This record gives sequence, structure tokens and C-alpha cells, in this order.
Amino acid sequence: MGRYAVIGYPISHTLSPLIHNANFEAKGTADQYSAIAVPPDQLMHIRDTIRSEGLAGFNVTIPHKEKIMEYLDHVDADAMKIGAVNTVSVDGDVLTGHNTDITGYLDAFNQTFGRQHRRILIIGAGGAAKAVHRAHANNGDTVTIAARRMESFQQFRTVDFKAVLISDIPDLDPHDAIINTTPVGMKHEDLFEEMEIPHSIITEDTLGVDLIYQPERTKFLEYFAEGHYMNGMPMLIHQAMDAYTIWTGEQGDIAAVNRKYKAHIGGKS
Ligand code: NAP
Repeated sequence: MGRYAVIGYPISHTLSPLIHNANFEAKGTADQYSAIAVPPDQLMHIRDTIRSEGLAGFNVTIPHKEKIMEYLDHVDADAMKIGAVNTVSVDGDVLTGHNTDITGYLDAFNQTFGRQHRRILIIGAGGAAKAVHRAHANNGDTVTIAARRMESFQQFRTVDFKAVLISDIPDLDPHDAIINTTPVGMKHEDLFEEMEIPHSIITEDTLGVDLIYQPERTKFLEYFAEGHYMNGMPMLIHQAMDAYTIWTGEQGDIAAVNRKYKAHIGGKS
């Protein structure tokens, strides 16, 4: 039996145990996944935690995604490019960091919309935006990132995108897909009203992605045509299943996880 976990602080609201344990159940393994609260001043003892919990691998969430890199032996190239790790594989004493937010997002996007070269507009320039940007850059897309303050771009380790202010968006050339990576919409706010962006930037062909998964369809996504939008749930599930593949070499049961997740949120959005 393998033991896996997510570490973060606070950690009580994480959906990762539900997702991973649904997958383990579907795969018929006795593996277990739990949430471990690791306060920031305890992260330095991560190797003790791995030993005492018997972890074969673990996920990393807020606020440890950047700081964990100091305690790892290796970090893969994409995680290094965005300066954040969300998945660690444990091979004896050797710890290797990965970022499956990048691969999980890209799998979700390409499976939903198909792969082709696109002009992408990312709204927001925080941690999730860095993963989404890396994904689209790896996909060969042309990426523009819009932030409310230019200082946000100082946190990026690569410069392979166009950096603009959100207030510049109305003056930009059209985009094929618009991605919301800000939390605006979680409380049913209308992103276009809140950020004073005219929704005329959307045509009936424009794709829309919101990383938010609750509510299931934000006001932002309501502006996009049927079949042209995706919420954050497929990314959440794919990043988890990509971590499972890193740990075990096997493919996760995405359909089973989807069913479990939908039953869990039923009626809540
Ligand atoms: P973060 O690092 O705090 O970044 C948030 C970004 O949004 C920052 O650039 C922030 O700008 C910007 N922002 C916040 N409020 C804004 C406003 N009113 N107008 C304009 N910009 C605003 O957070 P994160 O980790 O990237 O997460 C962002 C969202 O993605 C959250 O809703 C999170 O739940 C979601 N997410 C989903 C998944 C998934 O698997 N579906 C994965 C990761 C994250 P400032 O820096 O100027 O404040």
C-alpha cells in the first residue's frame, strides 16, 4: 500500500483527498491519500514528515509551492521556469519536484478544445497564471498576460509573453481564448464589470476558461457560447491524475474521479 498526501497551511478545504481516494478506489488499490497541515515554520522538517508518515509521494499547496524547492534534490525544467512545485516524488532519500498544474491545465484545455496554435489572453498574473502561461507557451501559442499592476511581472522567470495592464485590454487585437486566473467570480462577481473590460472582446468563436470551479459557471463564462468554455474542474482533476502518474507510472481513472467530484458538489454551486 502506498501513502500519499497534500501538505499546506491551512489545509482543511482541499479537495485533493477526495480526488485521489476516488481514483485509488476505482483502480482497486489500497493506497491512501490524506491532508497534512504543515505550518510555514515546520516546512524545514519535511523529510521527517515524509519518514514518519511513510509517504511515497506528495502534493504541495499554498503557501509552500515556492519554498519547498529549497528542500528538494531535483526540480524539473518547467517547475523551475515558473518557480513553483505542486508535486514531489519520493525515491528513497531523493526528492524531485514537478508542476502538474502546467501539464494538468494543458491536458484539460487540449482535450476540451483540441490542439492548434492560438492567441491567448490570460487575465491575472499570480501563481496560477504562471502555470497557465507555461502550458500555452509549451503548446506553441502566442500569449498575452494582463495584470492590474506592472510590478506583478517582476515575479516571472521567463519573458516569452506580452505583458499589459488590464486597462489596456480594450485596445488589444482579438484573442482566440481568454483565461481568467484571478479569484474574481468566486463570489458571483462579473469580471467584465469589475475590471471594466467590454465584453465585445468576445465573439461567438472565442474560447473562455475560468480556473474557478465553484460556482460551476461563473458570470465570466456566461459570456461565451455553448461548447466554448471550460471551468477549473478539469484542470484540478488532471493535475491530480498527472501526479498519480508521476508517482506510480499508471494512468488515473479520470471518469471515476469526475463522477465522484460531481456527486460531491451536487447542488452546491
Ligand atoms: P494568486 O497567486 O493570489 O494570484 C491572483 C491574481 O489575481 C493576482 O495577479 C492578483 O493581482 C489578481 N487579482 C486578484 N483580484 C483582482 C482584481 N479584482 N482585479 C484584477 N486582478 C486581480 O492566486 P492563484 O494561486 O494564482 O489563484 C488564482 C485563482 O485560480 C483562484 O481562484 C484559485 O482558486 C484558482 N486556481 C484554480 C486551480 C485549478 O486547478 N482549477 C489551480 C490553481 C488556482 P494582484 O497581485 O495585483 O493582487
